[in-house]
Parts: sequence; structure tokens; C-alpha cells
Amino acid sequence: MRRVSHHHDLTVLGLQKSILEGAGISAFILNNHSWWMGNGAVSLLCLCLGERELTNNPLFAPVLCIVEDAYFEEALEILVAHHAALPQGTDWTCHACAAEVPGTLDACWQCRAEQPTEHRQ
Ligand SMILES: [Zn+2]
Repeated sequence: MRRVSHHHDLTVLGLQKSILEGAGISAFILNNHSWWMGNGAVSLLCLCLGERELTNNPLFAPVLCIVEDAYFEEALEILVAHHAALPQGTDWTCHACAAEVPGTLDACWQCRAEQPTEHRQ
């Protein structure tokens, strides 16, 4: 088992998982309440943070893992190629909640506010 990707949006990981499985690489998603549970220090840190900080912190984001470590390099290549094929917008700041939103999204991942039209491509 090896982590290949993490993202705050489970639907993104679900897409990446299906891409890997389409290439014959077994993958699964661990959510932010399972994979780090064995680590007391991280759990303690978690208690000190609010839910919003948790979801903004990549350390606590859901992670995509592959079952066979041997496929790690291949899996990364596939995901990088997939990412490069996506339209790349400019990252923007949500006007409603001030979250940093990747340019590939046209609505805020945190509060679902629409991206202001002047930033769209
Ligand atoms: Zn927002």
C-alpha cells in the first residue's frame, strides 16, 4: 500500500481512483478519519484544530492509495498525465469564505460559492 495522491474533495480522488483502475492498478481511498488514527501525536494535533483547518490541511485530506507498491511510478505518471490534460485556470480566492480554490474548480470547494465570472477563462 502506498499513497499516491491526496485531495480535499473526495470526488476528485474517486475520479483518480477510476483512472488508475482503468489502467489495471488497484487503488482505494482512505478518508481523513481513518489513516492517521494510529498516530497519537497527529490525533492530538487534530483535537487542537477546527474542522475547517482540518479540511484545509493536506495532512488530513482524504488520500488515494494503491495496493501494490510496484505500480507507484506508473500510477504517478498516469495521474500527472491526467492532471496535465485538464484545463488549467488560475487559482482564486473565494469571495464568500476566503478559501484558496484551485483554478480547475469553478465553485468553491468549501462553501460552494460560484467563482466570479471575471476570473473564468
Ligand atoms: Zn467559499
